[in-house]
Amino acid sequence: MRPALVLATRNPGKIKELSALLQGFGLEVLGLDQVRGIGDIPETGTTFLENARIKARTVALATGLCAVADDSGLEVDALNGAPGVYSARYSGPDADDDKNNLKLLRELEAVPEAGRTARFVCSVVAASPSGIEIASRGVWEGRIASSPRGSRGFGFDPLFFDPELGLTAAQMTGRQKNSRSHRGKALAGLLAQWPEFWARVRSG
Ligand code: IMP
Repeated sequence: MRPALVLATRNPGKIKELSALLQGFGLEVLGLDQVRGIGDIPETGTTFLENARIKARTVALATGLCAVADDSGLEVDALNGAPGVYSARYSGPDADDDKNNLKLLRELEAVPEAGRTARFVCSVVAASPSGIEIASRGVWEGRIASSPRGSRGFGFDPLFFDPELGLTAAQMTGRQKNSRSHRGKALAGLLAQWPEFWARVRSG
């Protein structure tokens, strides 16, 4: 039987992406829906790294398998780094993408273009049940547009403008976004450390 790795997400897109990246390591990549007994994991950390660590450790200990978790969000300079780790819940308990984007536009109404700098940040952590860990962080610098553009992607993508490409994240193809995104960079950093991590895990 191939050794398995659990990705701490129920998002089939993320599972597919990581399975493809880890091809060649002979691993079976499972999502949270394929393992038993893990409910919602409270994201109580104050940084992306802390939240990713909490999720990876919880899943590794509960399953006895290595786990990979990510946590990400948007930091806006004019809002002193908000919404940050609260990105998904920015507009309150019944937040959704539209409400979050509307709130962001309202908060930045009086801020001119030059002051609308922002970045997406992603931390990824891999943890073994015995406590071996690696982590990586990816950052994508951009600006908050004054109105939404594009229909692809999710979250704050329609408002996140990449000045180098001259497009919002929601106007990019999946390939364009992956090659520039915080998540793509964080995963690339994790993969660079993967052979050493895996050798340490296997030598126990
Ligand atoms: P999570 O790390 O998947 O829980 O994402 C947290 C929140 O950050 C999402 O609900 C979005 O609001 C925001 N976010 C993170 N990454 C992206 C992205 O690539 N595009 C748009 N929004 C994002």
